[in-house]
Amino acid sequence: MKYWKKLSKPQLIQKIDQALASTVNFESSKYLGYPVSHLDENVFNTSGTSLDNAPILKSFIANPNNIGCHTLGKSEEAFKGSQELEKEVIRVLAVDIFKAKENQYDGYIATGGTEANIQALWIYRNLFKKEYNASLDEMVILSSEDTHYSVHKGSNLLSVENVSIPVDFNSREIIVEELDAIVKKLVAEGKKYFMVISNMATTMFGSVDNPDVYAEILKKHQVVFKIHVDGAFGGFIYPITNKKSTINFENENVTSITIDAHKMLQAPYGTGVFLCRKGYIENALTKEAQYVDGMDLTLSGSRSGANAIAVWMILFSYGYYGWFEKINTLLLRTEWFCDQLNNLNIEYFRNPFMNIVTLKSSFIPDDLAHKFGLVPDTHNGEHSWFKVIMMDHVEIDDLLKFVTELENLK
Ligand SMILES: *Cc1c(COP(=O)(O)O)cnc(C)c1O
Repeated sequence: MKYWKKLSKPQLIQKIDQALASTVNFESSKYLGYPVSHLDENVFNTSGTSLDNAPILKSFIANPNNIGCHTLGKSEEAFKGSQELEKEVIRVLAVDIFKAKENQYDGYIATGGTEANIQALWIYRNLFKKEYNASLDEMVILSSEDTHYSVHKGSNLLSVENVSIPVDFNSREIIVEELDAIVKKLVAEGKKYFMVISNMATTMFGSVDNPDVYAEILKKHQVVFKIHVDGAFGGFIYPITNKKSTINFENENVTSITIDAHKMLQAPYGTGVFLCRKGYIENALTKEAQYVDGMDLTLSGSRSGANAIAVWMILFSYGYYGWFEKINTLLLRTEWFCDQLNNLNIEYFRNPFMNIVTLKSSFIPDDLAHKFGLVPDTHNGEHSWFKVIMMDHVEIDDLLKFVTELENLK
């Protein structure tokens, strides 16, 4: 890990204070043309000693705007500090976690995984138009049937058809023969440009798609394609637990990645991350964004600099090893839980590198699932699965209560 280090509390506070000091001071009257300000002091408690050790609250009060993309070109001068910290976050994720080469990536902190996935589809749609003069009818989005619904939003917004690839009921793996047959049929129908959303852990199962399987089939059919990895759920887990993972920028099949900081990382909502190789994000340039100094290459306009600072603070509070230990604790709990299920002969799906266990719902009475807050694969009553996610707050003692009730059913 080149950049992902652990900093002490005083170091963290000092760096955040520095960042906020270089954010415009609205009191100095030098900024007459910005429709921005700190939080309204008539409404919010914006001063007092209680803020001294609360750098994130201070950041929210200072209210920096991280509008635009800061890995490329110029950025708004007024918010340099929080943009610098965002750049450090993007660098840790791109280089240390996803193995990008130095300065060979772009990215930004989006509002969430939904936005980051749509940003990817938007970039590829525009790329196919620009490079190949492709029409919308010639493009198609491919993703597995377990893919997050944000991809359907993107398909609808961008007017590009989305086709779901069936997965095996038990292994949740893409059925390669089906993929092959679907691509063949789509090509016969005139599709030439494919955008793939490959899951690095699905929300319901924690199952991980192999992007190389998509690449192989698409190459075989000689179509143009780009692969986006949706790591909204698994981005802060899978690459840490599976050291041999090839789902990163060393893999030439992977062009862009979504990671959510507001799931496993427990950052405030509004912190999804979009990452891509250099040379792609320009496809999302809005030329008309002229009042923004620098280029606006992002789907969102104004966005919270305080959120970027919060993600930065979490990453550098733990450092790589601190995070490694935390994730491994969750995996230990997951393994303990699976052992209990094995003893009880309850069937489930689990990817060994993930902290989700998805139980076949025929083994779990509905009222028990409800009592323990398990989440079903569908809320319309026809569910086949219930999932349990080992989070910070889901300890073995909590799991034990559930397991004991399962034993009592026998
Ligand atoms: C949660 C999730 C999303 C959507 O993220 P939001 O941050 O809720 O917008 C997308 N993909 C996957 C796999 C997810 O788990």
